[in-house]
Amino acid sequence: MTALAQRLARPEILALEPYQTAYDENDRDQAIKLDANENPYAPLLSDSLAATANRYPEPQPARLLARLAALYQVGPETIFVGRGADEAIELLVRAFCTPGQDAVLTCPPTFSYYETVAQIQGARCLKVPLQDDFNINKDEIVRVGSADENLKIVFLCSPMNPTGNSIARQDILDICTALPETLIVVDEAYIEFSTHPSVATELAGLENLVVLRTLSKAYGLAGARCGVALADPEIISVLRRIMPPYPLSTLTEQAVLQALAPFRMPLIKKRVDEILQQRDRLMEQLPLAKQILDVYPSDANAIFVKVADADSFQKIMDQAAIKVRRRENVFQGGFRITVGTPAENTTLLAALGLDQGVQSGRSAERIRETKETRISCRIDLDKTGVTDINTGVGFFDHMLEQIARHGGFSLSLICEGDLEIDAHHTLEDCMLTFGECLKAALGDKRGIGRFGFLLPMDETEAQISVDLGGRPYSVFKGAFSASHIGDYPTEMTAHLFRSLADSLGAAIHVSVNGENDHHKTEACFKALGRALRMAIRKEGDDIPSTKGVL
Ligand code: PMP
Repeated sequence: MTALAQRLARPEILALEPYQTAYDENDRDQAIKLDANENPYAPLLSDSLAATANRYPEPQPARLLARLAALYQVGPETIFVGRGADEAIELLVRAFCTPGQDAVLTCPPTFSYYETVAQIQGARCLKVPLQDDFNINKDEIVRVGSADENLKIVFLCSPMNPTGNSIARQDILDICTALPETLIVVDEAYIEFSTHPSVATELAGLENLVVLRTLSKAYGLAGARCGVALADPEIISVLRRIMPPYPLSTLTEQAVLQALAPFRMPLIKKRVDEILQQRDRLMEQLPLAKQILDVYPSDANAIFVKVADADSFQKIMDQAAIKVRRRENVFQGGFRITVGTPAENTTLLAALGLDQGVQSGRSAERIRETKETRISCRIDLDKTGVTDINTGVGFFDHMLEQIARHGGFSLSLICEGDLEIDAHHTLEDCMLTFGECLKAALGDKRGIGRFGFLLPMDETEAQISVDLGGRPYSVFKGAFSASHIGDYPTEMTAHLFRSLADSLGAAIHVSVNGENDHHKTEACFKALGRALRMAIRKEGDDIPSTKGVL
């Protein structure tokens, strides 16, 4: 154990014989498990949930650690994974603070759980308040810290909760250097929403730095309860000595591994981007509300405001059935407002009598996961120019890009398919998912053009007509002489247009003539994009059918 972990940890924790789970004593692979008093029958839940729930989980699941290590760009031995960052905070205080003797330091107003845990542990809580501009008082933290030889932990929250601002990286590093005998715990619960990069890149050079990350915020897994402490392996091993026997449920492990599968990551990034755009929208509008005196810059997924009259502001929120967090410990009239979906934010702005702007928000996401392919797709019909496509079949990526570019919408489509067999499943499932996603993004189809046409291109002539009326039908007239273009089999083109017609609920008629197969195929996809561009465009507010529904 390194000198620092030795010096800082409570002596009784270092002397402790850690609890040994059945897992620690017996490798479980391929064994008849009669060692943990488990029930041999899987629970009566749906298959995917039931598969592992009758068995105790690995205390620190290796697969999960490996995925988190890749996500956070650190080694698995530098991670403690538990029930949220909350549990990491709890274990840090329990491992390092001797009751009645040691202290933690916080910078209020901040996340109040640091102090709560210190109180539970019987540790003192020193406080160095934020300055009026919400920045930390670095010199005072160092002064107070240096004067107390029993200060074990400084909690710095960046971006901060509730104020939303970040701490300058250099200030964090300076505090780590100035207080080498104290753990400097940087809580980065909201870092994914910040312009500041994580300080986790400094871990290798700073033995006393601990970084907290969570899957509750940017990854939307607050209900699964999963968060980590990243630190020197010796500090992590101290935490593992005192963790409960099985900190994480197998269900959480499964949910997190599923959520963090690489093919899903572009969608997570798109959601974070959307939250940031919505934060900009609220930052622009909220200062115009007559009830609001100040709106503070935010690096997190929440905005801190000061209102003129807290009771009447609360009443307005109650009447609109919007829950916000009253934070008058910061100052009178302090409220923290989390950024919601575009529609939720529209309701908030409307409640405050503000301009809600045009937020048509025609978008959808689809995940399709089978043994053959794993696909994530997101379409934003009213955004242009952003495409993020990777199916593993280069020519097909190029074709999907043509659809989005010429269709005038943004498309993210990632597929991990069984290309070791051939491209068939990948191409077909991608097109099905694309069609389903496009259909969902169109919603009730109110106001759309519904029909789309396109006529000749170059030496090749591709004609496509589309009707998004809801009834699938596919006609494809055209033939190709080559069997493949790159890894892309030309026989799939007609099949893909049929898949799309089926999943989108569209009539799609294609006719293509020409000499060069690459040109002919590309012309089909480009023409599809152009036809869709006309058909999806909003032209009014009516349902484009005499039936009144589509
Ligand atoms: N740190 C901060 C600053 C928080 O705001 C929160 C939760 N609101 C947490 C940690 C706890 O995160 P988790 O859900 O991972 O326990």
